Amino acid sequence: MKKILYIITTISFFMSSCNIAKFSTPEKEIINKKYENKIMPLMLVSNKLDSTILYSKSKKFKVSKRDKKLEKLVSHMYETCNDKTNPGVGIASPQVGINKRIIWVQRFDKEEEPFEVYFNIEIIKFYPAKSEGWEACLSVPGYRGIVNRSDSIIIKYDNYKKHDIIETVRGFTSVIFQHEIDHLEGVLYTDRIFDKTKLYSDKEYEKTFNK
Ligand code: ZN
Repeated sequence: MKKILYIITTISFFMSSCNIAKFSTPEKEIINKKYENKIMPLMLVSNKLDSTILYSKSKKFKVSKRDKKLEKLVSHMYETCNDKTNPGVGIASPQVGINKRIIWVQRFDKEEEPFEVYFNIEIIKFYPAKSEGWEACLSVPGYRGIVNRSDSIIIKYDNYKKHDIIETVRGFTSVIFQHEIDHLEGVLYTDRIFDKTKLYSDKEYEKTFNK
């Protein structure tokens, strides 16, 4: 009886340990560091080493409420995106050096426009109707550009409570999702601008549009 109990305990421990996100050693080092005001340094496309992370595909992971590292990373990503000196409307984990599928998005389509976090997110459908719109990126400072994106998408994601949640998102909020999920695929918005006359430095933008 004791032996059976031991086996059951071992199996359940093994199963619960599977639910903990497996961060790599360099990722754990990044998460474990202390950051002033919880603001993490951003990976920049202008830096060679950062670029290798930005251009890598991010992996899915097991979501667990008990994973303290995940909890810390999620809260630090939020503060980094809401840095008053350099704010964004969304952030993806590769932008802070972590190639796992985690994004924060500001939900302009919801009342009070809250920031929400999404795990293991992917786009399962792009509707054919597309529009052009301005985009910028915390990892590509000093630039903005016009990107053609789907008006509506269907996303699939996990949160702390549920798995495989399906949702349709429309309008500007869907553009933010597409931009952030691109980061998880190792794609930057600048890669989607094939006509380079649609990419402006801040100075060129000021000159062209704010005469
Ligand atoms: Zn970005």
